[in-house]
Amino acid sequence: MPAPHAAFRIGHGYDLHRLEPLAPAGEGRPLRLGGVELAHDRGPVGHSDADALLHAITDAILGGLGEPDIGQLFPDTDPRHEAKDSAVFLAEAVRRASEAEYALVNLDATVILERPRLLPHKAAIRANLARLLAVPETAINVKGKTHERVDAVGEGRAVEVHAVVLLARR
Ligand code: MG
Repeated sequence: MPAPHAAFRIGHGYDLHRLEPLAPAGEGRPLRLGGVELAHDRGPVGHSDADALLHAITDAILGGLGEPDIGQLFPDTDPRHEAKDSAVFLAEAVRRASEAEYALVNLDATVILERPRLLPHKAAIRANLARLLAVPETAINVKGKTHERVDAVGEGRAVEVHAVVLLARR
């Protein structure tokens, strides 16, 4: 059912994935953020490709629409989603936004990752997100932070993402 037609709707998404040594030493998948692969000796554990940035953005869009969340739409118990490219989940959120007659105004995301540094990859991530969301790069912002070496994220054992989107009625 389409969301109530306010002129604007805001959405927030959050995700965290545990980081483990890469297979075969551990369960970590290659570290992908926003569909861009970052070279690292650890990677996220997850049922899909475990791209925490794409998951948080997907949930932000779905949340803004008042739709079910990513875990409801794509349960991790479904073998069809094993190692799935998370761009597929984002595409479904974008499709639902379009169906509800909302367009993305802008996205602001914060990736919290101790290592590797996000900075060298920010431009590629931004460009890829603009492509996946079919918006200009000026509509996309991604910030990288560390967790100051404290707690699981700071010890390099997890990656965490917050994302906020603004949707406007077309
Ligand atoms: Mg996730």
